[in-house]
Amino acid sequence: MFISRRQFVLSAAAIGAMPSLGSGAGAETTARTVSGEKPVFVSTWPFGKAANEKALQVLADGGSLLDAVEQGIWVTESDAENRSVGLSGFPDAAGVVQLDACIMFGPGHKAGSVAAVEGIRHPISVARRVMEKTPHVMLAGDGARQFAIEEGLESVEINSREMHQSWWKKRAEKNRETEEPQRPKDIRENHDTIALLALGLDGSLAGGCSTSGWGGKIPGRVGDSPIIGSGLYVDNEIGAAGATGLGENVMRYCGSFLVVEYMRQGLHPEEACAETIRRIARLDPKGFDLSINFIALDKQGRFGAAGTGQGFEFSVTSTTTSRVLRSPGLSDTSVGPVGGNTK
Ligand code: ASP
Repeated sequence: MFISRRQFVLSAAAIGAMPSLGSGAGAETTARTVSGEKPVFVSTWPFGKAANEKALQVLADGGSLLDAVEQGIWVTESDAENRSVGLSGFPDAAGVVQLDACIMFGPGHKAGSVAAVEGIRHPISVARRVMEKTPHVMLAGDGARQFAIEEGLESVEINSREMHQSWWKKRAEKNRETEEPQRPKDIRENHDTIALLALGLDGSLAGGCSTSGWGGKIPGRVGDSPIIGSGLYVDNEIGAAGATGLGENVMRYCGSFLVVEYMRQGLHPEEACAETIRRIARLDPKGFDLSINFIALDKQGRFGAAGTGQGFEFSVTSTTTSRVLRSPGLSDTSVGPVGGNTK
């Protein structure tokens, strides 16, 4: 569906007045109802909906597609209630919050990334500065923090991380007293990511993702999110994909790159996500017990998602709707194509 820039600005203004469709438990299961519109934003989890809506607003206000992605992700990074993205995220085993993020811009195939950075409010902005202002793609740890501070990005005193130490550190100490030293466990509730994919009015694609990673991780652990091709991949000829879930099960397979490659072969975004999971499950000793999820958006504005487990929820926002959808859940009984909507 083609709309002019003026029509877009008018209809984007209406989105604030739009009824809020779908959230959490009430998520819809049909993933194609707004397929084909531009611009469109697709993101992970119900919390991505607020990020999408901000992104749409930024674009309507005259911002660029990258501004939209960056500022959309700011919403999640700033959410004090969110325990898996930004400085309020779960700390590592030492009680420190280390953040991962990356961003890609389709035209020119640009990418920037930051890993294990501490005390920076918006890691997505560090990733964007790495992309736009350095000859590098990825900065990590102290160097990334220093770079962010030199760029004037908002930082907090590392000491303020003490506020995060309380329950996590106590829990770790308790474990030490009572049990053998523990490796971090995947307990589903202790990790998530905002991955946000964007298709602009002119057909350009962009995307970003941001996470505090796996709560209780070994200090220095880096997940899939800041790894280009794993947590995120954008190919301006084909489409974009992003991941959330246990990064170790995504980064060994270049998951998001694979989703885009399946779209290149002609698969619908939903089926590309599902086929990526099936392929990983065929190779992985854990089979479908992987705790991974993908979202995808193609150049035509078609989108979809798939995950292991019970119906991963993702958010989609265009000028006509903003909603949370539930993707098909794949398990070892999933042998054929998922869903029915593969037009
Ligand atoms: N993929 C993230 C990581 O492994 C966490 C998540 O999205 O659940 O760091």
